[in-house]
Amino acid sequence: MAKVVHKFGGSSLSSAERYQAVAKIILEQCQLGDSVVVSAAGKTTNTLVKLWQSFEQQDVRAFNDVLLQVENHQRELIDALFTGDRHAALLKQLVNELQALAQAREARTLHYASLLAHGELWSARVLANYLSSQGIEARDIDARKLFVQQDGVLLHALNKEVCYSAIGDNAVHIVTGFIAADSQGETVTLGRNGSDYSATLLANYIDATQVSIWTDTIGVFSTDPRKVSSAIKYAKVCRSQAELLARLGNPVLHAKTLSPLKGTDIKLQVRSSFDSDALGTEIVKAGYSKEKRFITTFGQLDLLRVEKLNSGEVKQLSQLIQHSIHHFIKGGEAHLLVPSEFSHLVINALEPRANIIESQVQGFAVVAPSQDIAGLHQQALELLGDNAIVTRFVLQAQNYSLVLTDQSIDSDVLAVLHERLVNKGRELAVIVAGVGNVGEVFIEQCNDQFDKLSEHFDLKLVGLLRSKQMLFCPSGLNLAQWQQQWQNEAIEYNEAELFTRIKELDYEHKVIIDITASERFSELYPQFVEHDCHLISANKYAGTAKHNWYTQLRQKLQERNLLWRYNTSVGAGLPVNFALADLQNSGDEIVRIEGVFSGTLSWLCSRYDGSEAFSELVLGAQALGFTEPDPREDLSGRDMQRKLLILARELGIELELDEIELEPLMPDNLAQGSWLQFLENRQQLDDFYAEHDAKARENDAVLRYTGALEIANNGHVCAKVGVAHVPNGAAIANLTPSDNIFVIHTKWYEQNPLVIQGPGAGKEVTAAGIHSDLFWLTQNLK
Ligand code: ADP
Ligand code: ASP
Ligand code: MG
Repeated sequence: MAKVVHKFGGSSLSSAERYQAVAKIILEQCQLGDSVVVSAAGKTTNTLVKLWQSFEQQDVRAFNDVLLQVENHQRELIDALFTGDRHAALLKQLVNELQALAQAREARTLHYASLLAHGELWSARVLANYLSSQGIEARDIDARKLFVQQDGVLLHALNKEVCYSAIGDNAVHIVTGFIAADSQGETVTLGRNGSDYSATLLANYIDATQVSIWTDTIGVFSTDPRKVSSAIKYAKVCRSQAELLARLGNPVLHAKTLSPLKGTDIKLQVRSSFDSDALGTEIVKAGYSKEKRFITTFGQLDLLRVEKLNSGEVKQLSQLIQHSIHHFIKGGEAHLLVPSEFSHLVINALEPRANIIESQVQGFAVVAPSQDIAGLHQQALELLGDNAIVTRFVLQAQNYSLVLTDQSIDSDVLAVLHERLVNKGRELAVIVAGVGNVGEVFIEQCNDQFDKLSEHFDLKLVGLLRSKQMLFCPSGLNLAQWQQQWQNEAIEYNEAELFTRIKELDYEHKVIIDITASERFSELYPQFVEHDCHLISANKYAGTAKHNWYTQLRQKLQERNLLWRYNTSVGAGLPVNFALADLQNSGDEIVRIEGVFSGTLSWLCSRYDGSEAFSELVLGAQALGFTEPDPREDLSGRDMQRKLLILARELGIELELDEIELEPLMPDNLAQGSWLQFLENRQQLDDFYAEHDAKARENDAVLRYTGALEIANNGHVCAKVGVAHVPNGAAIANLTPSDNIFVIHTKWYEQNPLVIQGPGAGKEVTAAGIHSDLFWLTQNLK
């Protein structure tokens, strides 16, 4: 049976709520026979290291204080997660263990690795018990029974045998990360951050198909996303770059994580336990992903130069200090980067061959494709100069550039480095859904537009979707010959296949451009977001969906740093949304928006002069292609109702579609029934219109179909779409047939409103409006 190994790091187990979230993920994603490797909860290992230090310093008071801290944390978890017998039993076990630790301190028999092991043992026990209390067959396993090493070398053959028999199909196995045993049965650890390694080791031993590392970010980013909000999440990272990052001390994966995967087909992914819907990062074999750019920072290191470093010595040293050590050769001499707190241990062990050449340094490394390194290295040094940061040591290696400084690289400087060294030359994959009139023009315009944007972004049109067929070309379609490619290579449209293709795209950014009018397609937006896609839509459905759904989508986008624009869904290319945003951003208050937002209704009402029956005009417009296939779709006013809702939401107003009063431009009974019945009864439409028109004329006004949104002083909102009698001379009365008009009254534009008028439909202006959204996207990508 295909087995999967999941690993949850300390950040995923930092509180009772996090344990519950992890249990939920296990419930949803694990089968009996799968394994879950856990780290110590939150920062427990750090606390246990402090406990050890106070033990070594024989500081009894500090020891007791830290022990109490540990106890309180564990008690809190147990109290929040359990009741009854289970609660009592777990507390009793904990108290006994803490007493044993206190006694071992007195007897001076405390052992470093065994002390640290408690963190992982507690996590596994608590999680297994919590899962059992939720009805999941779960069993905790102490990894010291699974992983044995001799003289610092894991006994793979033996371990494999033991793991095979210990990991059965009848339970979910909760295995302690980080710890192992030596051949005498003494506890050893796999090094700080080593639970990732435990997970891949176990996967190798039990021939698992996949390892999922669940952490607190949605994958591997171009730099620490906690420090730089514009960090790019990569969908794929190749093993060699992940390994290099790990060797440089990046915490997202531990240095040895990848070694057990060598020569296997075990898949590895990094995912977020805080956002389990999000697609993570896949760590793929060479050739399955292009090389990316990264910046990783470090602090408090000593740089050591070593004479005649022997092979295998770095491994032994990192075993000794339980920490990864970055090792490189410069000028023919071996160098080690060691956390300052451990350098005395390393120097003693290498005595007299090592000496510190730079102490207490900070810095960063840029990891990038080898052809980019020289340029990036130079730029990095210039940027540091600009920011008055003194460099103490630099190394330009083949796949990375290393810079040690005497001052830490704070978030601001890191953001500048990231902007200049990583954000340039990013690729943006464009997928266009709906290749009709507007779509075709949009693609034609891509040639010029992509060129214009190329200074910051390399845009590639990688996918085209129609309701029945789709075409994907991950390296980018030929813009001059896309039609031919469509003819020859389009395959049947299939949603599952669509997401598989999107998942496979190896781009820094992806955008779905929805030029369909399909409600079904808009319902896929949350899934696009889970697949890290930005959205641009001319489609109105998502922007006018139920408020709950809409706000959840917005929230999801925000959490993932993704953007959504749908400016062409109202007024096509007219800059209405820009104007509204600008007014609001500059402190104005919008009081009322009124207008005609439907080209069809604008055309019909402006053309009517009584010389021809209204239904004749409608049929004429239908023949000219100015209406929806069934013109009653236009006459119903629903399209304008949606547009008004989009405008309202643009102003931050919480409103549902059916809260906008709707009065159709036809008698109610005509809205029902077939098209033929409508035609038979068209006289009723003519009478309806003529009657309204006559009334308007009596009042020196003209008949228009308008939408109006009014925001009272007390915040009360009144929204309505329907027939209006507009005084002759008003802007709305003098509308060019088929134009849209938006009359915006604000605190500043009070007496004399701001008017935006022009074609609100048409393939060229709409396609250009979508390009305007695409341009905005490239300027605002974080
Ligand atoms: P865990 O407790 O799950 O093992 P770690 O704290 O060890 O998690 O590692 C995850 C942290 O790594 C993130 O919270 C993030 O701050 C940091 N980090 C640094 N660089 C990166 C990067 N390039 N991509 C993702 N996370 C990173
Ligand atoms: N708990 C250990 C540590 O903090 C191992 C791990 O988290 O992976 O280093
Ligand atoms: Mg970690």
